[in-house]
Amino acid sequence: MSALDSLQRRTNRSRVLGALRQHGAMSRGALAGSGLSRSTVQSVVEELLGAGTVVEVEAPRATRGTGRPPVLVGLNGSLGATVGLEIGNGFVRGAVCTLAQELLLHDEITVDEDTTPADTLELINELIDSMLARTGFRRDRVVGVGIAMPGPIQRRTGLIGRACTLKPWVGVNARALAGDVLGLPVLADNDANLAAIAEMTWGAARGKRDFAYVYAATGIGAGFVLDGALYVGANGTAGEIGHTTIDENGLVCECGGRGCLNTLANPHAILRQLSQSHRDLPSIVEVIRLANDGDAGCRRVLADAGRHIGVAMANMYNLLDPEVIVLGGNLAAAGGTLLRPLCESMARRAIHAGEAVPPVIAGELDEHVVVVVGGAAAVLRDAVNFPLPETTI
Ligand SMILES: [Zn+2]
Repeated sequence: MSALDSLQRRTNRSRVLGALRQHGAMSRGALAGSGLSRSTVQSVVEELLGAGTVVEVEAPRATRGTGRPPVLVGLNGSLGATVGLEIGNGFVRGAVCTLAQELLLHDEITVDEDTTPADTLELINELIDSMLARTGFRRDRVVGVGIAMPGPIQRRTGLIGRACTLKPWVGVNARALAGDVLGLPVLADNDANLAAIAEMTWGAARGKRDFAYVYAATGIGAGFVLDGALYVGANGTAGEIGHTTIDENGLVCECGGRGCLNTLANPHAILRQLSQSHRDLPSIVEVIRLANDGDAGCRRVLADAGRHIGVAMANMYNLLDPEVIVLGGNLAAAGGTLLRPLCESMARRAIHAGEAVPPVIAGELDEHVVVVVGGAAAVLRDAVNFPLPETTI
């Protein structure tokens, strides 16, 4: 075989493996749709099957027609794993997925908000060891670790920005520090960005090429997927919807701005608005529970929060024109009490070419796992920085 032929074969193999890493198991026909001829796909798949890199699997039930179920080709899940981590306010979550996009387990530990990054990473090391022991994967089978942080990460320097709600991590290069302590390849990204990737891989945005994911947690952030790829902006701060101005004369935000969405509609702001009427409310979960039981004050503040989020979403929609907006995080659990005023507020301000009101849909993944599994999915999708474990080819 000539050097040119060998290079072409490697390129074709990378394209097939890249498509499987992005989309999960696919039919040979769909793989051919990615620009390779059917005969090339057939030859590459045969080679990868022989090496054990891919396996044949039956199509999931939902996509079956009345005839014979199509046979799909997917990465061999037993070859290796990806690890997702979410470093949050008071907790760290971890998840282990196979290369076949299968979630094996997720776990959570309590970590005090004041804990230093180095000490947090030592606890994470123990969490990873414990999770891997339960899944049967050795550490050298981990393709990479995707870490979610509750704040923006500077694209050029990798440093965590000052808007991060976890203060000991501000100014820290999470990727570099975690790489040193864990001894594994690492990526670090904002929690909303990774949640967007999770919904694109397993949830409400599966198959969508242009969408926004709004993550309403401690702060409100958004992840943008434009033309099939995550858009983080020139500096890595794209999607900070929580810091868009809603009231120019409003309260000063921790970012230094005034009247940001976060000062009006994040869980802390909602609890503050109820501090006179409802003393000692422990969390937003309790506010949502009371609202569902008919408490007028709790319903009112959640509806107001929905209206404010709707204003910010309409501005975002008018700039980006996403196909759909997915809402996730703990505020999304308020359901129609928050969503109805949100959609009304947004529809009044959104520019749309047709008669369709821009759709806002709830995320499909549980709020406790959506971010952490997004870290694992992001590693799997990044073929450049996270090569697959060595096989026989
Ligand atoms: Zn702000």
